[in-house]
Amino acid sequence: MKPAPRWPLHPAPKEGEALSSWLNRVAACYQMDVHELLVHDLGHCQLDELDTAPPPSLLTVLAQRSGVEFEQLSRMSLAGWVPWLLDSLDDSVPAALETYAFQCSVLLPKRKARSITRWRAWLPSQPIRRACPLCLNDTTNQAMLLVWQLPLMLSCPQHGCWLESYWGLPGRYLQWEKADAAPHPANEAITCMDGRTWQALTTGFVELPRRRIHAGLWFRLLRTLLDELNTPLSHCCSGSAGSIRQVWEHCGHPLRAGQSLWRPFEILAPAVQLQMLEAVATAITLIESKALPARGEQAVLFQTEPHAGFTNGLPVKVPKPESVNYWQRAAQAIEEAIIEARYNPETARSLFALASCGRRDPESLKRLRDTFAKEGIPPEFLSHYEPKWTFADLRLSDGLSDKF
Ligand SMILES: [Zn+2]
Repeated sequence: MKPAPRWPLHPAPKEGEALSSWLNRVAACYQMDVHELLVHDLGHCQLDELDTAPPPSLLTVLAQRSGVEFEQLSRMSLAGWVPWLLDSLDDSVPAALETYAFQCSVLLPKRKARSITRWRAWLPSQPIRRACPLCLNDTTNQAMLLVWQLPLMLSCPQHGCWLESYWGLPGRYLQWEKADAAPHPANEAITCMDGRTWQALTTGFVELPRRRIHAGLWFRLLRTLLDELNTPLSHCCSGSAGSIRQVWEHCGHPLRAGQSLWRPFEILAPAVQLQMLEAVATAITLIESKALPARGEQAVLFQTEPHAGFTNGLPVKVPKPESVNYWQRAAQAIEEAIIEARYNPETARSLFALASCGRRDPESLKRLRDTFAKEGIPPEFLSHYEPKWTFADLRLSDGLSDKF
């Protein structure tokens, strides 16, 4: 088939821009709207799924028309963010909430998982219209970011101001909801959290005080904290209830943003979601400054490594070294790797390589694949994978293989 000819005019997509926004700007070059551009020029009439799951055939034609890479175009819709930001766009996956928001723990010790039918991470039940007033200063060229459609960030990482609610059609007519449209600077806790989320979205990782983590883990930590801060106090021990209370008091909003019944974050009212996100930003700052006890397994990620290996020259009392349980550490590392392998194919393959040490016969490898699937690791991550090396003679490998 002959490739479609290039558009003579097409602005470059802005980093993080939504597909619908970019097509809107392309259409404006030809005094058209998106619908006219898609129907008349590309023969495509579905507009509502542009920012969620555009058909690959449309992306292929758009790549030919614009010269923008297919991969870059696919990252402009939510489908391009599976499995990092969300496990699936299918809202009927069993135990989806449990898998996403209850495997990690930060503020509270492990919580009892909740499960609901039909759930997808981060996708709000009602559309969100928020944007950065400074990014949209140039009314003739307004690029709308995909992340502004989600209850995920409160501020603009470039300008450090709050995202503001608007109505209208960006690029054509846009009105800010607040009469006072002056940008409001966000506090340090919020800009720090949003800066990390932006780093996750644009680079695929986040630098935390303890170590660099994968973007997939960052989004799950945020979603975990959102749920922890929305835990009814009657479900917590007294120490944990005190921590939740402390965070809400510190950020100046009513406890649990005024919620009495538990509902998942995605279906809460937009104003409540914003208060919940603000509470998460506050909690992270308090944990990092050690002003808040955090009892969850992943809380250490927000704390710097204790200094060691040098002295100030004064005599010091040497504490009795604590005995290290290496097996416990190894088991913890494997648990963490299993969580990451559920959304990171590379980790899944490395973990499989480790677990398959010493196994050669197909039956044993099949059993291992079944175990991985039971742990929630997508079998397609391993579909083309055959372990290239075996350490049958390594005793250690047998010990690790027992884990699976
Ligand atoms: Zn901005």
